[in-house]
Amino acid sequence: MEWEREAEEYLKKIPFFIRGKVKREVEKYLSEKGYKKVSLEALLDAKKALLEKMSQAENGYEVSGCFGLNSCSNALTNSEKLLKNLEKILEEEKITEFLKKKVKGQLKAHHKFKIGLSECPNACSQIYICDFALHGFVKPEVNIKKCSFCGSCVEVCEEEAIKLTECGVVIDEKKCVGCGQCLKICPEGAITEKFKGYKVYLGGKLGRHPRLATFLTYAENEKEVEKIFKKVLALYKEYNIKGERLGAIIERIGFDKVKKLVIS
Ligand code: SF4
Ligand code: SF4
Ligand code: SF4
Repeated sequence: MEWEREAEEYLKKIPFFIRGKVKREVEKYLSEKGYKKVSLEALLDAKKALLEKMSQAENGYEVSGCFGLNSCSNALTNSEKLLKNLEKILEEEKITEFLKKKVKGQLKAHHKFKIGLSECPNACSQIYICDFALHGFVKPEVNIKKCSFCGSCVEVCEEEAIKLTECGVVIDEKKCVGCGQCLKICPEGAITEKFKGYKVYLGGKLGRHPRLATFLTYAENEKEVEKIFKKVLALYKEYNIKGERLGAIIERIGFDKVKKLVIS
């Protein structure tokens, strides 16, 4: 399709890595409308329509995991089945229909209930901006009788959570993020899993009033996560006024109340 000079100049303002995609989308949109060339006016019309389309949502939820599933050496958990089960619960709870009733007008992408999961504390999948967030976690434990005082665990711990003292290896629980690297490196098998499971967070979101998800609790296995999730959804539905995100509900009723209702 032919582009007029002014339209081409406008297109150049778009970052290069998405320019090609935007160009294709604009041409597709305009050719469907019967345009033969792209003027600046037509381009601005197409931009408005495409932005509107992008902001609309058919589904009232989004579930995403990290790339760790089956492929990352840092992964501590394997949550493929868990993610499917959480999605099934969202379907059973009819979250899309619920939100469509609550939201005045068209359901938009920013209304979606978002679940984010990472298989380790590195949290590559931006879990802290999700309504319900999880990451794999391991709590290390030292068997000092097996320790050869080699110091490898001290070196590998990026959090400086491990100290080699006269009495042996000491792990600072406050500093430890549960990445499990010390377990992997220990040549004597002196560091083992005291606990392995998930850390659960609630109420992350972007938008006008961004908020990072708040730590709620530990969950030892998938069943426990699902149980917590059902309670969170019940609370989300009960306290939802107009389709607001869980983070907004938490800000309104207070995290202590949320914790009491969910962990009981
Ligand atoms: S969050 Fe952890 S497991 Fe997932 S991709 Fe990142 S480093 Fe790998
Ligand atoms: S689990 Fe990770 S953060 Fe915790 S002590 Fe071991 S290496 Fe450090
Ligand atoms: S890596 Fe294992 S053997 Fe070496 S100091 Fe740490 S706990 Fe002890």
